[in-house]
Amino acid sequence: MQSPTDCIFCAIVSGRAAAAIVYRDEHLTAFLDLFPVVPGHLLIVPNRHAKGLTELDADAASRMVAVAQRLAAAVRRSQTPCEGINLFMAEGPVAGQTVFHCHLHLLPRHGDDGFHVGGSFLNRLNPGRDQLDALAASLRSALSTLEATAEHTE
Ligand code: AMP
Ligand code: ZN
Repeated sequence: MQSPTDCIFCAIVSGRAAAAIVYRDEHLTAFLDLFPVVPGHLLIVPNRHAKGLTELDADAASRMVAVAQRLAAAVRRSQTPCEGINLFMAEGPVAGQTVFHCHLHLLPRHGDDGFHVGGSFLNRLNPGRDQLDALAASLRSALSTLEATAEHTE
């Protein structure tokens, strides 16, 4: 896909917009979030525009996690307070995505950082074994349909 001219993360990747870049290779760029929720809040983005995880190619998706792992180790060695880490990704407005160029948030966490994982993440449903088994069966079926389609197109 061509880089959309109105995409702020494409502008950062291409150097048309400023950012505090921490890591860059031919596939990915990582930079500090302009409005961090905690100090050291990083964004890891593919250099090639993709709207969300679904559109991202599998290679870029796995590279994102590998880079997050290296950055997590770097943050722990740096002066940024870090006793733990959260990774977060939103796809679609309903999930809270506001910039529509796929990105992985890396949040260095420490005891007094004032960041709280949303209340609804702590309020759990209690679906029961039958419902979980039925849902798992429908997801397995969707997965094998996807895999069969991929085999035909390879
Ligand atoms: P999300 O809400 O998951 O789509 O996250 C988008 C993130 O991009 C937010 O955390 C914003 O603070 C951050 N952001 C928006 N514009 C910029 C920018 N120009 N430079 C760095 N981070 C940005
Ligand atoms: Zn983009």
